[in-house]
Amino acid sequence: MRFLITGGAGFIGSHLAELLLERGHAVLLLDDLSTGSIENIRHLKGNGRLQYFLDSIANRQLLAELVDESDVVLHLAAAVGVRLIVESPVRTIETNIEGTQRVLDAACKKKKLVFIASTSEVYGKSNQVPYREDDDLVLGPTSKSRWSYAASKAVDEFLGLAYWREKKLPVVIGRFFNTVGPRQTGRYGMVLPNFVRQALNGEPITVFGTGKQSRCFCDVRDAVEAVYRLVMTDVAIGEVVNIGNDREITIEELAHLVRQRTRSTSPIQYVPYEQAYEPGFEDMMRRVPALEKLERLTGFRPQVPLETIVDRVVEHMTEKRQAAAMVPELGRALG
Ligand code: UDP
Repeated sequence: MRFLITGGAGFIGSHLAELLLERGHAVLLLDDLSTGSIENIRHLKGNGRLQYFLDSIANRQLLAELVDESDVVLHLAAAVGVRLIVESPVRTIETNIEGTQRVLDAACKKKKLVFIASTSEVYGKSNQVPYREDDDLVLGPTSKSRWSYAASKAVDEFLGLAYWREKKLPVVIGRFFNTVGPRQTGRYGMVLPNFVRQALNGEPITVFGTGKQSRCFCDVRDAVEAVYRLVMTDVAIGEVVNIGNDREITIEELAHLVRQRTRSTSPIQYVPYEQAYEPGFEDMMRRVPALEKLERLTGFRPQVPLETIVDRVVEHMTEKRQAAAMVPELGRALG
């Protein structure tokens, strides 16, 4: 089969491309490198079944051509990361809503199956854990930009479900919960790559707020396996499905775990939210996915334990640093 991945040079997109190529599929990858990176797909570029296009989903003509050539569209192109969202709210709302609209419109002509990447952010600050797919969404006020991300993704979900109900376009929606692993950048504020970088540098590990807030971290390879299974079955069409791991850990515990796995002596430093993000920033205290629906539809349960995830991130970051350190030496050696 041939898959189009929008946002294919991003963190999750590049792992998805890798899995699809491993399984013998062809991949068309579209990415404008706004948050993705060519580094993420460098190791795949020699594969004859991969074609990549460095362009935006705003290029309607190209998008239409690529959708026509594919059997399935995996729509991952989006503005992501809490920091980016707080800093660029206009871009977040426009990219997320217009982008999804364009993809659905292009796919609708020939009724191509579309997977829409959504997020656990849509649950907002609901206290009712674990989060089930048909739970109410509890968002904060529009004056706080964090919620624009959740709202824009909720609109994407509404749009996807509307295309399914009204136009019979097959759509599957996956809500990703804190996906982590090699190649995730800390540039947009994600906690695990930030902690690992800080620990490796011997800098303070910055825990925001009290550190008592908790998250469940899912290895990206588990997450992309779940996506694959969801699009390879008919039973997930028209459904919204959580994708994550249900082992819960507080951010403070995560900081200690990273310190221990890296054997770092970095101090742990508590930073107030208003300093880390913006005044009045609201964080959620717990976020746990209910995974019964994913398991019922696909038979899949996440496999990778958090310790292994942390070790892989550490290993990847260490390798990247060694490679970067080698370049000036190589430069000198070559003279
Ligand atoms: N966080 C932190 N230090 C950091 C980055 C994030 O303590 O350097 C906290 C953040 O406030 C949140 C949690 O870690 O409570 C997860 O943040 P992330 O941005 O990775 O994902 P979120 O769950 O907020 O989407």
